[in-house]
Amino acid sequence: MSDPVVSIRGLRKRFGDNEVLRGIDLDVAQGEVVCLIGPSGSGKSTLLRCVNLLETPTEGTIEAAGHDLTGPDADLDLARRDIGMVFQHFNLFSHMTILDNLVVPQRQVCRLPKAEAVAEARRLLAQVGIEGKERAKPAQLSGGQQQRVAIARALAVKPRLMLFDEPTSALDPELVGDVLAVMKGLAAEGMTMLVVTHEMGFAREVADRVLFLDGGVIVESGPPADVLTAPRTERAREFLHRVL
Ligand code: ADP
Ligand code: MG
Repeated sequence: MSDPVVSIRGLRKRFGDNEVLRGIDLDVAQGEVVCLIGPSGSGKSTLLRCVNLLETPTEGTIEAAGHDLTGPDADLDLARRDIGMVFQHFNLFSHMTILDNLVVPQRQVCRLPKAEAVAEARRLLAQVGIEGKERAKPAQLSGGQQQRVAIARALAVKPRLMLFDEPTSALDPELVGDVLAVMKGLAAEGMTMLVVTHEMGFAREVADRVLFLDGGVIVESGPPADVLTAPRTERAREFLHRVL
């Protein structure tokens, strides 16, 4: 195996007395799609947020997209450029047009000339199925369209790793499919992805590996056919029984 894109060792995260992550070890290979499932409060978002240093780990080491995130010389700006993140609530720049949402990061982060940034923005918007909305503001789009723009914006700075935190949980059911289709296309192109999701169909079809997190530890890890169909632990069986 080539060097993993994510390598986590002994990760712990405490908020005061509340130990939310209690010893996480995880490698994600180049091109691998790993889906993270588990009950509310089990630490899924905190794990993802540690991987792009929106949270600072209490203990342990994280290497991601070629950056030693927990080392003394970590350059967070450089690291975040290589690690894209998509949130449940889109988090687009609401005062900017759709086009500028994609152009501005390329200008600021990658120092691209305007014409190149605009051309790349148009290409990415087409890739996620958003046409004719360049001049609109985010609030004028449906939730599903906004989330596809958010994915395109994350891709605009050419990340090596994409993190998704329940990207379809805030969407009306009829809008979920278009977003999942974009993510599926990204996976097929070889993007390395760590995805928190309750979409078991997506996990079954697209994930190389499913992790079941409970109480801040990885309780099960394996191919979707194993973890989703024949879980080994009672905790996973009970959780899957509730969501399937
Ligand atoms: P999940 O995404 O699996 O639902 P989270 O990672 O969001 O779980 O949260 C796990 C636990 O950590 C919860 O008990 C939550 O209240 C707590 N937590 C998360 N973020 C913070 C924070 N910034 N400050 C204090 N507690 C937090
Ligand atoms: Mg969460």
